[in-house]
Amino acid sequence: MRRRDLFKSAAAAAALPSTSALRLSGASEPAIEPKIVRLKLRHTWTTVMSSSEFRDTLHLRYTRDGITGTGEGAPIVRYHEDAASAQKAIESVGGFLRSADPRQFAKVMAEVFRNIDGQYAGKAAIDIALMDWFGQKVGIPLYTCFGLDPADAPVTTFSIGIDTPEITRQKVREAAPYPILKIKVGLDSDEATVEAVRSVTKKPLRVDANEGWKDKEEAVRKINWLEKQGVEFVEQPLPAAMIEETRWVRSHVHIPVIADEACLRASDIPKLADAFDGVNVKLDKAGGMLEAYRMIQIAKSLGMKTMLGCMISSSVSVTAAAHLSPLVNYADLDGNLLIANDPYTGVLVREGKLILPDRPGLGLKPAA
Ligand code: MG
Repeated sequence: MRRRDLFKSAAAAAALPSTSALRLSGASEPAIEPKIVRLKLRHTWTTVMSSSEFRDTLHLRYTRDGITGTGEGAPIVRYHEDAASAQKAIESVGGFLRSADPRQFAKVMAEVFRNIDGQYAGKAAIDIALMDWFGQKVGIPLYTCFGLDPADAPVTTFSIGIDTPEITRQKVREAAPYPILKIKVGLDSDEATVEAVRSVTKKPLRVDANEGWKDKEEAVRKINWLEKQGVEFVEQPLPAAMIEETRWVRSHVHIPVIADEACLRASDIPKLADAFDGVNVKLDKAGGMLEAYRMIQIAKSLGMKTMLGCMISSSVSVTAAAHLSPLVNYADLDGNLLIANDPYTGVLVREGKLILPDRPGLGLKPAA
């Protein structure tokens, strides 16, 4: 080896974590601490599905070798999940997690998936806590674990829940720092809502109907009207099961149609490929970062657009999704911006762009 190459390989080796850094001490029993956290919304949050003042999410602290990984899952009624059952599901694999080797996080998560039925938000909390622990253990941010460039992180939308025209205008004014808005629709008031938004801003809009339109003709009529209002794409126009009707809708409109409620997990994607232009992947639906990564790759391989979304949740879950965001076309990662009592700071938003923390693991800090 030439002297210059020797220096190069020595520098490369120095950049990698040493084997001893990866060794487990086994000095103390690993701790698994799930906890339900009540997140208070800044505004009453209304979509076609529900109206709420707060959301309970499940947080998990996984401590080993003096390092604590933090995870979160946001269970929602639409998927027949709640925080108490997510907590029980995590406790049911507590013994296994305490004895498992977190350096083998993919193997550990495969075992978790085999042992827990449903409870994808609970699984997401475990996956995120293990990934955060691993990133801190080896001393690298999670985007680096996935081989991604944080400069590729996209702009995130900021969501405007359903409200009266007056409050909608106020919310749009409050959203001044965000260059793209996502408007929740799906009721009889859709035109009034979008007109209220348009009366105060010219920003690009994206629209989420949350399965609210009940037939394909109504969906086509509304989407074609929305296109004239400068809407870039529409999410989940019809109920999740109406895939045939959505295929018909897609052939009668010009803007992309993105699947959310129709696309929960990897196995859903192939059957959606010719009915939708893209998929909205969420860690809470997928069961964590590893599954979300797989879903994004499958969707891409089928020529579909990809989006990362989130539930109402704290900076734990939103930051985990943000670490994968350099992979996707669109981001809707604002769940933490909609709450008033976020326990952590992680991903930041500057002029709409997601700024990923460069600290190890998720890179969370306690909120100031
Ligand atoms: Mg949606």
